Amino acid sequence: MAYNCVVMQNEDPDGHCSRVVDRVSRFRMTGRGVWASVPDHDWNDWRWQLRHRITTLEALETLLKLTPEEREGLVLAGNNLALAITPYFFNLIDRDNPDCPIRRQVIPRVEETVTASWEMIDPCGEDAHMVAPGLVHRYPDRVLFLVTDRCASYCRYCTRSRVVSGAGEQHLHTDFSEAIQYIRKHTEVRDVLLSGGDPLLFSDDRLEHILSQLRAIPHVEFLRIGTRIPVFLPQRVTPELCAMLRKYHPLWMGIHTNHPKEATAEVREACGRLADAGIPLGNQTVLLRGVNDDAAVMKELMHKLLMMRVRPYYIYQCDLVKGTHHLRTSVRKGIEIIEALRGHTTGYAVPQYVIDTPGGGGKVPIGPEYVLAYDKQRVIIRNYEGKVFEYPEVSESRGAPTTPDKAVTEVKHGCARERCDRS
Ligand SMILES: *Cc1c(COP(=O)(O)O)cnc(C)c1O
Ligand code: SF4
Repeated sequence: MAYNCVVMQNEDPDGHCSRVVDRVSRFRMTGRGVWASVPDHDWNDWRWQLRHRITTLEALETLLKLTPEEREGLVLAGNNLALAITPYFFNLIDRDNPDCPIRRQVIPRVEETVTASWEMIDPCGEDAHMVAPGLVHRYPDRVLFLVTDRCASYCRYCTRSRVVSGAGEQHLHTDFSEAIQYIRKHTEVRDVLLSGGDPLLFSDDRLEHILSQLRAIPHVEFLRIGTRIPVFLPQRVTPELCAMLRKYHPLWMGIHTNHPKEATAEVREACGRLADAGIPLGNQTVLLRGVNDDAAVMKELMHKLLMMRVRPYYIYQCDLVKGTHHLRTSVRKGIEIIEALRGHTTGYAVPQYVIDTPGGGGKVPIGPEYVLAYDKQRVIIRNYEGKVFEYPEVSESRGAPTTPDKAVTEVKHGCARERCDRS
């Protein structure tokens, strides 16, 4: 390979060969737009980005031409979930395209004021599983710790819009000492997931205070942080933050990206700093109409995530949150997307598609059916190309040897692949 790069080395200061340059060029730096005159040290300062967020209709209107649906949405919807967009993330919006997939995620629309009869304030029944203010214990061995109600920007489909942003009727009042006391007492809790809101909005010191208390609990094996900051505000992922986080290993992080446009050079570098600090990265994507309800878009996103050293973890069917009907797709579409990924691309690029059950039953995996028939003797399966195969089922009956019985042996000798190829 090195020989092929000689010519390119003269042209490319980093000495990458042409294929590498090609791959890297898919991650573009985000332009500065109207902030062109802002000095680098401000633009790259996460606190500057937060101070300059777009939070009002007036501010947004000076930056782009709103559609009537958006305008009305901004007037009405802000009573439930606030508007906030970091300048960095705003610049990913295609200002000439009212259907821009980035725009649909963060700019309210009037449809948010419409509630379908099956939509809920707390679609996943989190409040019912709250064991201390801010602590949700829904599964046997792990807890969800909601440490803040604030985010760098607000996603219009947020499953916790009832508490997130502080604009709605309900408020989150996390009781840190009660929550930590609960985890300390409950020795079955081996996994603590910090979320919110976005935990990375805390200062390094404040976050470290929480992490160190959790780490001091002997039965807590595994810490993880769910955050969209690397995507909304990659500037927050400073070397200092990474140096602090790495003291609390094993610590994993789940980020949240929905569209390949979000995978910029800035996000790639932020993920690189986290990965270099030994933090395994996962990603969750929410399936959204007009954003990523397309197999090619999803595949590109998954490929870009792998290049950023992020393992796709979940695709969520959009929760039944009040006012999100316009963003929801069919479950069939989700299954179709998984079907288009599995076998067709790298296994690491295939996340688990889940429905977080309405009312609070937890996440349930949903996917294409690969088992066509199944009895005591055999399993009939199909592959990603639709070819059919048989696999002998092993008898689980007590005391019996695990060798297949006669019927199964026959199946074994009749090679399914041969039969399949002939058909
Ligand atoms: C999603 C979730 C978790 C974590 O689930 P995993 O499938 O382990 O990632 C834990 N608690 C609650 C309440 C959740 O919603
Ligand atoms: S970053 Fe997460 S918690 Fe915050 S608004 Fe988006 S989905 Fe909700």
